[in-house]
Amino acid sequence: MRQAEQIEKPDTILRRYVRILARYERLMELSRSLISTLDISILLEQIVVAAVELTDSEASSILLLDKPTGTLRFEAAVDPMGVSLASIDVPLENSIAGWVVTHGEPLVIADVASEPIHFSKVDEESAYQTRSLLAVPMRAHNKVIGCLEAVNKKDDHPFTDEDISTLTTLAAQAALTIENARLFQQSDFISEMVHELRTPLAAINATTHILQRADLVPEKHTQMVNTIAQETKRLTRMTTDFLDLARLESGRSRLVRDPINLGEILQSAIDTVSPQAAEHGISLELKLSPDPLPDLTGDGEKLMQVILNLLTNAIKYNRENGSVFVTAAEYGTDIVITIRDTGVGIAAENLPHMFKKFYRVADTEGYTTGTGLGLAITRRIVEGHGGTITVESELDVGTTFTIVLPLQFDPAVTRH
Ligand code: ADP
Repeated sequence: MRQAEQIEKPDTILRRYVRILARYERLMELSRSLISTLDISILLEQIVVAAVELTDSEASSILLLDKPTGTLRFEAAVDPMGVSLASIDVPLENSIAGWVVTHGEPLVIADVASEPIHFSKVDEESAYQTRSLLAVPMRAHNKVIGCLEAVNKKDDHPFTDEDISTLTTLAAQAALTIENARLFQQSDFISEMVHELRTPLAAINATTHILQRADLVPEKHTQMVNTIAQETKRLTRMTTDFLDLARLESGRSRLVRDPINLGEILQSAIDTVSPQAAEHGISLELKLSPDPLPDLTGDGEKLMQVILNLLTNAIKYNRENGSVFVTAAEYGTDIVITIRDTGVGIAAENLPHMFKKFYRVADTEGYTTGTGLGLAITRRIVEGHGGTITVESELDVGTTFTIVLPLQFDPAVTRH
């Protein structure tokens, strides 16, 4: 064989290189498309199709390691018999795929029938005969996550070194892309966010369609435009809140440490929300003890955001002509702020979830258009100041939020 290669004619060599180049072009094209897809099943489908095409095989499959069961599962396949392999679990021991995953090395089997570790259940279930097989490990960040197989090279030719290297490149790309897609899915915040964005987007979409109808009466027209305006506002708030929380969570948003006058912040927040309260006949009351309060070290702007959020909620979820009472008092080395309302209250079973991202009490969902992020942001900011926030509530009586902030905040000491 070596000798034969040495005396290869120039045009044969050229043809071989043209073929290799074509393969790499196809691989690059595929990698571009893989980067832009985050749906794992579409991704895997593209990979097996490319594997069949590039290695000139009859079939191809991807088996991914399922850690909890310690077995391999068919996640995608180009399968000439068209049967579903998804329900077949392939063991790590006594299977070719298992050997490849365990050893992390490629394996070429010219005659599968005489291979003792071949897991024949797959052929039996699919009524398909595996004659030759090339399997390569799929490795991401130094971990083998599965294996990519090419089955039965056309015309029963043997698999070549070129096939091994092509399939290895494909498997490496596939593994990385799968890992990225998994990371994306795992980032629950992002997927939850995308999910949450769908509701206002769907509402805008549906309303736009109705608006396009020629027979729409003018009153409906105004109503539809108002819905779009309201949902757009909600989308804007959501994105702002989302970015705020993402910055706080990743530590990109640092709290400044200035001497601040909390009494002034509370008064200014009350002044800001008073028109909103007046609309519903809600009274606002502030008590400081001592008055004035001693200065606090912290981020004035962020603490203003906290108070505004709690006050807005205390108004939003209040009853007509209700009240909101705000107190701030010095206790030893802390300042304790309470914001109490006379509103709808929160059921005991919902209280433990109040500070979770996107959490909204089901009963209040139609109440006002919120994002369910306000209290999560609030808690982050308070904890960033070394403080704590708690909530107590009674249904139909009202809710009290209590914040404890240390007068001197040392970023190294945080109470979670
Ligand atoms: P949003 O108000 O934007 O939905 P928040 O995180 O500020 O998000 O609040 C989460 C949920 O907690 C609200 O949807 C509401 O159900 C409930 N909630 C918050 N504050 C109060 C309150 N003062 N009284 C009753 N329920 C409240």
